[in-house]
Amino acid sequence: NRRIVLASRPQGAVTPDNFKLEQAPLAELAEGQFRVRNRYLSIDPYMRGRMNDTKSYAAPQALGDVMIGAAVSEVVESKHRGFTAGDNVTGIFGWQDYATSDGVGVRKIDDALVPLTAYLGVAGMPGVTAWYGLNKIIAPRAGQTVVVSAASGAVGSVVGQLAKLAGCRAVGIAGGPEKCRYVVEAFGFDACVDYKAGNLYQDLKAATPDGVDGYFENVGGEALDATLSRMNPFGRIAVCGMIAGYDGQPVPIKQPSIILTMRLLVQGFIVTEHLDLWPEALGTLATLVAQKKLRYRESIVEGLERAPDALIGLLQGKNFGKQLVKIA
Ligand code: NDP
Repeated sequence: NRRIVLASRPQGAVTPDNFKLEQAPLAELAEGQFRVRNRYLSIDPYMRGRMNDTKSYAAPQALGDVMIGAAVSEVVESKHRGFTAGDNVTGIFGWQDYATSDGVGVRKIDDALVPLTAYLGVAGMPGVTAWYGLNKIIAPRAGQTVVVSAASGAVGSVVGQLAKLAGCRAVGIAGGPEKCRYVVEAFGFDACVDYKAGNLYQDLKAATPDGVDGYFENVGGEALDATLSRMNPFGRIAVCGMIAGYDGQPVPIKQPSIILTMRLLVQGFIVTEHLDLWPEALGTLATLVAQKKLRYRESIVEGLERAPDALIGLLQGKNFGKQLVKIA
């Protein structure tokens, strides 16, 4: 069994030597366990936080442990009554070829209407994240304007599409003309502002003529400052991520007084703390994918050994859509 463990903690940006590829023998299955072969690994920004040894909403990953992460996998051997060889499943199986499970937190998945990889993105955790922040925190009404940063990504692309389905004006913020074009043409946003073009506030102002009622924050820093300046009274900000600061960079808010003067609601959230709502969200998202009302894009690299580079690239914005690793 090949597996990638956390070898050292990053000082600032993640580097390849923070990881180590190891070989380990497969253990015998105990009663009530089954073994999966991982087919696709999900690469997610939260992994950066787990590599630190600091206080956060989740415990840090221990040095020497297999890197945490969700996967889409096939059951290859089972001593568990609920799972049989051949089942397609998704669960937290880590960066390795094979994983052993007792079934806790594992979901059987069906590729009849929804492709398997989508269960790691639009019809999985990132999709639920978008659904929760938009519906439970921003709760937009038809006709309102919703802005989302990292708009071409796994979470952001779903936020804008759900906002459109709710009758809102959806405006994205993304890096570069290619991503922005895709956000409008493929995901159907009304507009997308390229923050790398150097004119974020003015461009966002032009794209939000009626101001902003809901902001779904994935990035922090400049995106937050520009959008705060466009907020309407009683606007809602769902703070989902602050990727611009994950390597320890400061992400100051330049004008926090706008929260007061515009009477804003600012709410952070962690999607895994709302598991009671996952069945409803996952059902809605899968149905929309099957009906082709929700589109998605993926960046797939091949080979377990390339998972570290995939994470490093994701944290630099090199991905274009949900980042996955296909295991040969
Ligand atoms: P994405 O697919 O959106 O990939 C990350 C994107 O962030 C990059 O492609 C890049 O796009 C963008 N980005 C913007 N600014 C920066 C920067 N300074 N450095 C690097 N990248 C930048 O990832 P996800 O959709 O999986 O995650 C989006 C956000 O949601 C993250 O902040 C993540 O932590 C958060 N999240 C939070 C959850 C929760 O429970 N609260 C659950 C899941 C995700 P561009 O090229 O456009 O800049």
